[in-house]
Amino acid sequence: MNISPKKSGEVSGRKAVENPLQAEEDRFRLAMRGANVGLWDLRFDGDLAVSDVYFSARYKAMLGYFEDEIQNSFHEILRLTTPESYRAIEEQIAELGAGTRANYELEIKMRHKDGRWLDILARGFPVYGADHKMVRLAGTHVDITERKRHETDLRLAAAVFTSTHEGVVVTDRDGLIIVVNPAFRTITGYDDDELGGRHIRMLQSGRHGRDFYQTMWRTIHEAGYWQGEIWNRRKCGDIYPQWLTISAVLDNKGAAINYVGVFTDITKLKQSETRLEYLAHHDPLTGLPNRLLLRSRIEHAIARSVQNNSGGAVLFIDLDRFKTVNDSLGHPIGDRLLIKVAERLKASMRVSDTLAREGGDEFIACIEDAQDPLEVAAFAQRLIDQMAEPYLLFGEQEIFIGLSIGVALFPADGDTADALIQHADAALYRAKRSGGAAVQLYSSTLTLAASERLQFETGLRRGLERNEFVLQFQPLVALPDERLIGVEALVRWRSSAGLVAPMKFIPLAEETGLIVQLGEWVLREACTRMKAWRDAGRDIDVIAVNLSPRQFDCADLCERVGAVLAETGLPPECLELELTETALMRQGDGAEEKLKILKALGVRIAIDDFGTGHSSLAYLKRFPIDKLKIDRSFIADIPGDTTGMEITSTVIRLAHSLKVKALAEGVETQAQASFLTLYGCDLAQGYLFDKPLWEEELIERVDRAERAGERRHG
Ligand code: C2E
Ligand code: MG
Ligand code: MG
Repeated sequence: MNISPKKSGEVSGRKAVENPLQAEEDRFRLAMRGANVGLWDLRFDGDLAVSDVYFSARYKAMLGYFEDEIQNSFHEILRLTTPESYRAIEEQIAELGAGTRANYELEIKMRHKDGRWLDILARGFPVYGADHKMVRLAGTHVDITERKRHETDLRLAAAVFTSTHEGVVVTDRDGLIIVVNPAFRTITGYDDDELGGRHIRMLQSGRHGRDFYQTMWRTIHEAGYWQGEIWNRRKCGDIYPQWLTISAVLDNKGAAINYVGVFTDITKLKQSETRLEYLAHHDPLTGLPNRLLLRSRIEHAIARSVQNNSGGAVLFIDLDRFKTVNDSLGHPIGDRLLIKVAERLKASMRVSDTLAREGGDEFIACIEDAQDPLEVAAFAQRLIDQMAEPYLLFGEQEIFIGLSIGVALFPADGDTADALIQHADAALYRAKRSGGAAVQLYSSTLTLAASERLQFETGLRRGLERNEFVLQFQPLVALPDERLIGVEALVRWRSSAGLVAPMKFIPLAEETGLIVQLGEWVLREACTRMKAWRDAGRDIDVIAVNLSPRQFDCADLCERVGAVLAETGLPPECLELELTETALMRQGDGAEEKLKILKALGVRIAIDDFGTGHSSLAYLKRFPIDKLKIDRSFIADIPGDTTGMEITSTVIRLAHSLKVKALAEGVETQAQASFLTLYGCDLAQGYLFDKPLWEEELIERVDRAERAGERRHG
């Protein structure tokens, strides 16, 4: 290092060795220069007037000037400093002069040649003359700009640290907490003494797995910081979300020595976010999903149905005459009603279904895993039926409201939410036009059959519940004397639309399975009536009851029959069960088994409508039957058609060779009766003798015959 001074005014090292005093002074100046300290020296005459001024080269260099750019004049100070600083200098000099201050020390602002303001610490020592007047003031200038800036920065940082609403925590390299700010304490609820030296993981909520923290720390090590949402735990145990930034503080070799975590409590933000999210997707009145959410649910349902190879339905539901309610009773009642309707509809749906409010009095439901159009239509019908129950609003007002529903099925009727909703809406329009309180399917071919069937089905169901079924009894007579030996029970439906013939509803009851319930009712009713007649002394040998194929298929048929007999007390031999060829042949060996059990109960078996189905003679031979009922289509051919006559005579012979009785159905003319008598047919049934009769008619008929018989015999 070259320490030899270049400019005059400073002394050379070699000279200093020669003179000890000079050497001392040189040493002093060198030290001053090394410390980057400028020197100044003022001399005063008697009245504190500056008489001589000295500024050292360093003094000047500190301000960016060369030696000759600053004059040794007190005025230069005025030029180089601010008015305030100048005033402060003058003030201190005055005080020193007056003896009210011991030494000179102040911070002043001085302008660097390049225009910057520097902070200078000026210190000096006064020298007084014999008359106690200050004669000299000499001292130093030190540039403290840098230090001042540091101090300010630190002060600002400290202010931010203490006053920010963000929680701040500083840890050592191992994650042990060194310091936290007041916001941290407020948010977490911990005090300093509970935190100092503890590991930062004491704040963990347990909501994140190891992976989460591993990724977080890897990011900090690689990128120097991590930022994200994290759930931590407060002292009170609450788990809350933070937006957290963790930065590593590195030493000059790049190793982490501290970590600083800065976070905000975003609980409120999250809450309003969730609330906003909810509001964006729900109807405020009913709390149901709104159209937006519905559409996304439908899209999901479609996607799922494609995956599972299943299907579903979109139901467009509209209240009938809601406007009238709203207009006449007012909006508060209207709103209340909508809420109630929504609740009732929702209660009928599965969790996987979505019920949404489309707007006004329109709701849309998305039903998953529903492929059978009839099933969906039946479900929709049930929703409509539910509305029969009135709504009780504000405790007193009873309101009846109807629904109309349009149904679109996916994937058949569309594969986007919009298409399905549009099609369901179109179907709804048709439902409305037909008078409301109705279901319509979008695919019109289905609709007709389905809705008819549907109405019938609900009607049937209701009919069963409301006991709308009644029996008629058609006499069975012996040939040739036409004596009444039995009756066939024939069911009728007394629906609101009038009396319905069995051919109209038996097939549907059969299809839907309602026949089992209906058939059991017929059986019980027939046995009860029969028992009553016999108890009253009326001479009727047998009551025939029709069993449909589905009834015959029931595994517990024999038990049911046995139970009804036991329950009603009717002797088994008074009951004849009519089964069709189809029902019997379908089961084959199983049928034989069942018939044998029935036979064992003591009941009789007849084969109904014989000749219309396919019978295996082999089975016929094995089945324990009592009677063949020749279908009336063959009888109707008599006497014009020879084939009919041949078949009839053949069946009579077949019956006889099977050792069972032959009964001719649908005998309407005397010619038919004569023909049958001629061929040895045992029994007959038909309008020629009797139509199906109501119970009173039958009793009258039986009693009349009895009286006639008595007259004949008596
Ligand atoms: P089926 O068992 O063959 O009953 C005889 C049907 O022929 C009855 O019709 C009866 O009214 C009709 N009939 C009787 N005499 C004459 C006649 O001289 N001329 C004409 N053209 N028809 C005559 P219905 O009551 O309409 O019953 C039709 C069918 O419905 C029955 O045929 C039977 O298969 C079924 N059915 C009736 N009641 C029941 C029941 O309780 N259960 C079951 N499973 N089926 C029933
Ligand atoms: Mg019959
Ligand atoms: Mg028949």
